Amino acid sequence: LAQLFRPLDMLGMVYRTIRQGLIDMAEMFRLLDEPQEVADVPGAPALVIKRPSVVFDNVLFGYEKDRTILKGLSFEVPAGQNIAIVGPSGAGKSTIARLLFRFYDPWSGRILIDGQDIAQVTQTSLRAALGIVPQDSVLFNETIGYNIAYGRGDATQADVEAAAKGAALMPLIERLPQGFQTEVGERGLKLSGGEKQRVAIARTLVKNPPILLLDEATSALDTRTEQDILATLHRVSEDRTSLSIAHRLSTIADSDKILVLQDGQLAESGSHLELLRRDGLYAEMWARQAAEQEEFEEAAE
Ligand code: ATP
Repeated sequence: LAQLFRPLDMLGMVYRTIRQGLIDMAEMFRLLDEPQEVADVPGAPALVIKRPSVVFDNVLFGYEKDRTILKGLSFEVPAGQNIAIVGPSGAGKSTIARLLFRFYDPWSGRILIDGQDIAQVTQTSLRAALGIVPQDSVLFNETIGYNIAYGRGDATQADVEAAAKGAALMPLIERLPQGFQTEVGERGLKLSGGEKQRVAIARTLVKNPPILLLDEATSALDTRTEQDILATLHRVSEDRTSLSIAHRLSTIADSDKILVLQDGQLAESGSHLELLRRDGLYAEMWARQAAEQEEFEEAAE
């Protein structure tokens, strides 16, 4: 009897796999649809950036009419500074990133880059100014070189090499018999999560955007690779304006300023030391993560 059922089990698995595939596709279409919610105003000029500052000025926003997510949020990232956004899950951290890319417009309030309202400039020029290093990067079934150059249409081999160096990818590329010409992705060389992220960092370096958005890994536990990647990210963002969405506080302690978001509002802001001294939400989150880290280390011994 068991033998009779085994093929049915298999069928069930195939069904689940297909269904998951359809869900993923639906998700993708939903994401692709989002940018169409906003349109360029007629005759919109391009964003011109001399000093890449970012300002959220009393931003009110929600995805649905009756549920406000950002409740009159105001903050400033001065040009060249590295700012981290932390806060409990669902506080609205990723929403800030989506609004900065203008996937949605605020209900009221304004978002300014170098003094220009991002709703009044072309979306092409806005997105050219922003670089994002996501947690999960997608690679094309192409060569590593192509995947890096994709950041900018007219990138030269010298640009690609400089970016690979900046993203600490050279040790990997030098090990490969075909170097930059090595095929990666489904049919080619399979890269690890960390290596893929380095390719994404190199892609961003080729693009060379004045403003960087970093979406740091959610995993609560430190690993050597993650530490290395973070060190690379921090080096890359040093002389740029950057916003890091951080889940682990240990990685952002040296930011110029930390914004603590709670329930769509700024609960606190300041440097790591200022916030610890304040003994509020940040200090509490810091103590909790330190305790978790200790537990993890004890368990690992
Ligand atoms: P996390 O740390 O868990 O990633 P977050 O602070 O980044 O959380 P957001 O992703 O900004 O939180 O979400 C804020 C709120 O908005 C959440 O309550 C979430 O359920 C809601 N939300 C996010 N995206 C959508 C969407 N597309 N439609 C409706 N609600 C959404």
